[in-house]
Amino acid sequence: MAIQWFPGHMAKARRQVTEKLKLIDVVIELIDARLPASSRNPMIDEIISHKPRLMLLNKADLADDKVTKEWIAYFEAQGHKVLAIDAQSGKGMKEIINACQELVKEKFDKMRAKGIKPRAVRALIVGIPNVGKSTLINKLAKKNIAQTGDRPGVTKAQQWIKVGKEIELLDTPGILWPKFEDELVGLRLATTGAIKDSIMNLQDITVYALRFLGERYPKRLEERYGITAITDDIVEAFDAIGKLRGCLMGGGDVDYDKVSDLVLRELRGGRLGRLTFERPIDLEVSTEGAPE
Ligand code: GDP
Repeated sequence: MAIQWFPGHMAKARRQVTEKLKLIDVVIELIDARLPASSRNPMIDEIISHKPRLMLLNKADLADDKVTKEWIAYFEAQGHKVLAIDAQSGKGMKEIINACQELVKEKFDKMRAKGIKPRAVRALIVGIPNVGKSTLINKLAKKNIAQTGDRPGVTKAQQWIKVGKEIELLDTPGILWPKFEDELVGLRLATTGAIKDSIMNLQDITVYALRFLGERYPKRLEERYGITAITDDIVEAFDAIGKLRGCLMGGGDVDYDKVSDLVLRELRGGRLGRLTFERPIDLEVSTEGAPE
């Protein structure tokens, strides 16, 4: 589900997360492993500045393993605790409990020294829409708790979900907004299906996706669509795919909307392999780097 964010919504979402922060020891920040920069809230450091944080690169099953490792090293170098997981299958999730305990060790040791009895670590999951917050909560809880597509602005009594004896999780995640004002961020989020297609032009998203694949994963493009190079004239690529896969209009001309539908469906469905759309190096230099 995509949410239309307005300044009022953003302020409200931030207020809701800030309120929840008062109740917890650790923030679990969920990030899309395919978009570790674009799937983050631009103000996250400010919003949760004073809380220990565990970063989870979710949907790692869809991301390029090599690049996921680069991102883990990048965030670790910034002093963060970070794990790659797949919340749908549960892969990588065993380490979450330990990581949370490690993050609060100092605080809990101090509490113990003062004679305060040990208790479960209280955690809040935060992230942009569609990053997998509800999936993660359900997996950790081992049952269906959070409504997928939870909306900001809908308040209800907070409940704690026990994850073993060690962790208590707030049952509603904190929803934050991505960096919409950046067009590239919007295109990347749209390519992975994180924001609704109706928000952006389908053909624009596909142009971005094909250029990206041509630059970074050219072999995949060749294997699937027989395209050996993406030229300046992107229409050539649309024509080639349309003819190959029969995306045609009544008169036999290539139907560019059908091509866009096909390419995005296949890309999102993993038919072009595991893809990561940005690398740490992209944050430092403007060029996209060498192909695989
Ligand atoms: P939320 O809006 O952050 O609560 O996101 P959801 O939990 O509703 O997940 C959005 C979509 O991503 C759903 O279709 C999930 O099935 C899917 N999803 C969540 N986690 C994973 C994952 O680790 N791998 C894959 N492949 N899909 C996932």
